[in-house]
Amino acid sequence: MRALVKSKPEVGLWMESVPVPEPGPNDVLIRVKKSAICGTDVHIWNWDQWAQKTIPVPMVVGHEFVGEIAEVGSAVTKYHVGERVSGEGHIVCGKCRNCRAGRGHLCHYTQGVGVNRPGSFAEFLCIPEHNVVAIPDEVPDEVAAIFDPFGNAVHTALSFDLVGEDVLVTGAGPIGIMGAMVARRAGARKVVITDINPARLELARKVGIDHVVDASRQDLTEVMNEIGMTEGFDVGLEMSGAPPAFRSMIDAMNNGGKIAILGIAPVAFGIDWNKVIFKMLTLKGIYGREMFETWYKMIAFVQGGLDLSPIITHRIRIDEFRDGFEAMRSGSSGKVVMDWY
Ligand code: NAD
Ligand code: ZN
Repeated sequence: MRALVKSKPEVGLWMESVPVPEPGPNDVLIRVKKSAICGTDVHIWNWDQWAQKTIPVPMVVGHEFVGEIAEVGSAVTKYHVGERVSGEGHIVCGKCRNCRAGRGHLCHYTQGVGVNRPGSFAEFLCIPEHNVVAIPDEVPDEVAAIFDPFGNAVHTALSFDLVGEDVLVTGAGPIGIMGAMVARRAGARKVVITDINPARLELARKVGIDHVVDASRQDLTEVMNEIGMTEGFDVGLEMSGAPPAFRSMIDAMNNGGKIAILGIAPVAFGIDWNKVIFKMLTLKGIYGREMFETWYKMIAFVQGGLDLSPIITHRIRIDEFRDGFEAMRSGSSGKVVMDWY
């Protein structure tokens, strides 16, 4: 089969011919229909320090996908050939303390599809039955193909009660924007999103986020005054990984505020911990999606009318993957979805 492979320890990905993975008794083989590019894939393409120490070469990359079941292992009971599915890209051990307590997202031995084991930029992908998620008819293919990052947004946004709360989202990348959309749907009072990139601010406006702030020009306290907020935000969703954004969020929180942190900073950075203490803030790190409660909520949001299609700015054929990565590397695209057929 054809697959996009990190086959050399240098910048780029290459379309190569590799064997079709063979499903074990508990595995499902999926014929990939669409696969989207994640920031992680861009790190792998760029072959940065993180990628160099994490990715064994050769590796088939990619983990955001939708497809159709082509084959099921002999012990698989839940799924059948022909079903339309996506799936959880974190493969958990099922045996550690957290897994056994039903907290798979906290597994101590998580393996990443397209990171530690072959991924979805391929004609076929093999994952355990446990990781497969059936996609209802109302969910379009391209939306199911971005369920992995949408799940990051949903997991982060639903970390704290949002009903009637004022929510600040820092970072209007695809995940930040989806997080803001979810916050509004989940009952937030005011939703403010910040970024410093005009293209991203434009995308946030286009999808109808109430208050879109250019953090390079406008101070958050000004914005809060303008929209009638006096004391500060109740909930923060950090979706940028940018130290100045995180610091401004801490400044803008109300006493007792809660912050869910998804954004990954390239290097360690400092914050004023005394502000965390005297404001009595709660900070919660977020990784991946809850298995499988986040998937359940994602499907419910889409079935309830949440339209994610404006987040997808590039729909291309797999052969145009170089253009897709170029768009992602520019930092100004929304999601890039690549079609296998
Ligand atoms: P992205 O890079 O597309 O978006 C980040 C946005 O933050 C960009 O639009 C950028 O312009 C903006 N930004 C930079 N400096 C800013 C500032 N000072 N104030 C406000 N905004 C600023 O990333 P994404 O794909 O939307 O993902 C969001 C973040 O989540 C990234 O940091 C990513 O690495 C991280 N992530 C974490 C997980 C996890 O499991 N924890 C999973 C996926 C992604
Ligand atoms: Zn485990």
